[in-house]
Amino acid sequence: MKSADSPEVLFRDRLPTESHLGYTHIVKQIKTLVDKMEATMGYRLSEIGIATPGIRDPRSGLMRNCNTTCLNRMPLKQDLEKVLAVKVHMANDANCFALAEANMGIVKEKFPGARTVFGVIMGTGVGGGVVVDGKVISGFHGIGGEWGHNILDASCGTKCYCGKTGCVEKVLAGPALQDYYTSISGTKKTMAEIYESFKSGNDEFATKTIERLIHFFGLALSVVVNILDPDVIVIGGGVGNIDLIYSEGRKSLQRFIFNDGDFGTPMAKPKLGDSAGVFGAALLSVK
Ligand SMILES: [Zn+2]
Repeated sequence: MKSADSPEVLFRDRLPTESHLGYTHIVKQIKTLVDKMEATMGYRLSEIGIATPGIRDPRSGLMRNCNTTCLNRMPLKQDLEKVLAVKVHMANDANCFALAEANMGIVKEKFPGARTVFGVIMGTGVGGGVVVDGKVISGFHGIGGEWGHNILDASCGTKCYCGKTGCVEKVLAGPALQDYYTSISGTKKTMAEIYESFKSGNDEFATKTIERLIHFFGLALSVVVNILDPDVIVIGGGVGNIDLIYSEGRKSLQRFIFNDGDFGTPMAKPKLGDSAGVFGAALLSVK
């Protein structure tokens, strides 16, 4: 990235972390990728940005809440700085998504005056990131924006890996919605199939699943809106791609917020696709 104002992709590659081989192997894979980038580009990097699952606790410097569980309790940033001999900036992938969409993506393009942006990811998991005046608010513990682990409905969700029951993620993530569909219908469908069945109007279980998604989407996000009252909400991830979120989901949210039924906040689709997290990571060195 030449500068934050006119970013340019100079090198693009992908390498599996092969996380089943453990923490040291992941660090090695990252080094392999960085070495290849430097050799190809002829650059020596001075700083590097990395988007991770979970968070790095700013107090202990150790990783927490990662679904790649071998990263948890490990000093990933310090180890990478040692191995790569460069300064490493690190943030949660949903924070990086929000940072990129705010500074380079849909918010910059359509809502340039927006100061507070809430970036939502609803896919295989549910995450979020708060960006204020172009900068991520990661918080005291590094958990800023983690609405996916607010308790949404303790009576309907199964136990979450975080130890609680009924987290937003256990209700709104794709796998949770698929599990719910299976629990009421006795059959398995992917999220895309459930949505197709819902649109065809002849699968009452699909209708129930999508209506439940819409209801709980509004309820879950209202908690965030009542506290943050963002200028824009950007919604990414596979579940976030369902167009009904922008119409019926919006009405549901409107019902639950503390604002007398009037809800003017724009809800925007992201623009940067799969690359948002990577762009956001690169921006960490300048933001
Ligand atoms: Zn949880």
